[in-house]
Amino acid sequence: MNILVTNDDGVTAPGLLALAQELRKLGKVTVFAPDKNWSASGHVKTMERPLRVKEVALADGTSAFTSDGAPSDCVALPLLGLLNEKFDLVVSGINPNANIGHDVTYSGTVTAAMEAVINGVTGIAVSLDSPEGFKGLLDYATSAFAARRVVEKVIAAGAPKDVVINVNVPYLKENELKGFMITRQGLRVYRDELIVRADPRGKPYYWIGGEAPTGIDEAGTDFSALQAGYVSITPLQLDLTAYTTADALRKWEFQ
Ligand code: MN
Repeated sequence: MNILVTNDDGVTAPGLLALAQELRKLGKVTVFAPDKNWSASGHVKTMERPLRVKEVALADGTSAFTSDGAPSDCVALPLLGLLNEKFDLVVSGINPNANIGHDVTYSGTVTAAMEAVINGVTGIAVSLDSPEGFKGLLDYATSAFAARRVVEKVIAAGAPKDVVINVNVPYLKENELKGFMITRQGLRVYRDELIVRADPRGKPYYWIGGEAPTGIDEAGTDFSALQAGYVSITPLQLDLTAYTTADALRKWEFQ
C-alpha cells in the first residue's frame, strides 16, 4: 500500500506528523505538504506562477516533500508523476478543526482529498473537532487511530470510486468514543462578522471575523455525530448538480 499524506496546515503541523506516523503501520507513506498554512483556501490550482519543491525532515527525522503550492497542488504534483511513484490512496489531515457541512467548500483539507479523486485516486480527509478556543498542544492520538481504522477499511473493502471520504473525529480519548457513524453533511451556522479597523495612516482594513461556527443538531448529520461522541464518516461526491432543480429548470421556456 503506497499512501500519500498531505494537509493544509503546512508541513510542520503536528496533525500531519501524527497521521503519517499512524499510517506507516499500514504501508509506505510519502508526505507532500505545503510550506505554509493554507487553511480555508478551498480548491486551488496554481497556474500563474511556477511551483518549487523541496525535501525536508519532519520532527521525527523522516523525509517529506514540501512546495509553495496549495494543498491541492501538493496532491496534483506527486499524482502527476513528480516522484515517479504510483499512489493507492491520498489521506489529508489531521486538521485541527472539524470540516463539516458547508465547511467542505472552504476546506483545504477536504479539497486536497478532492484533488486525489480528480486524479483517479481515493481521497480521505481527516479532521479533529477540537474544543473552541483550545490553547496548547492538541492530542491527535484518537484522531490518528480513527484515521487508521478508516484507511484499513478502505484497503480491505476496496475504495469506492469518485468519492471523498470525509472523516471528523470528536475530541475524546479512544475509550470514550461511542463508535463510527456514516453521516450526511449537516448545516453549519456561520457567525461571520465584518471587522473594520484602521491602519496607522487612518486607512480602513477588513477582517472576516466573528465567533466560530456552530451547527444544527439534526439526526444523521456529521455535526450531530460529533456532538454525540461518534467519529463521523461522510462520503462526498464531486458532482454538485441539484438534480431536482435541474428537472424544474427544464420546464422553463427559454424561447
Ligand atoms: Mn487547516
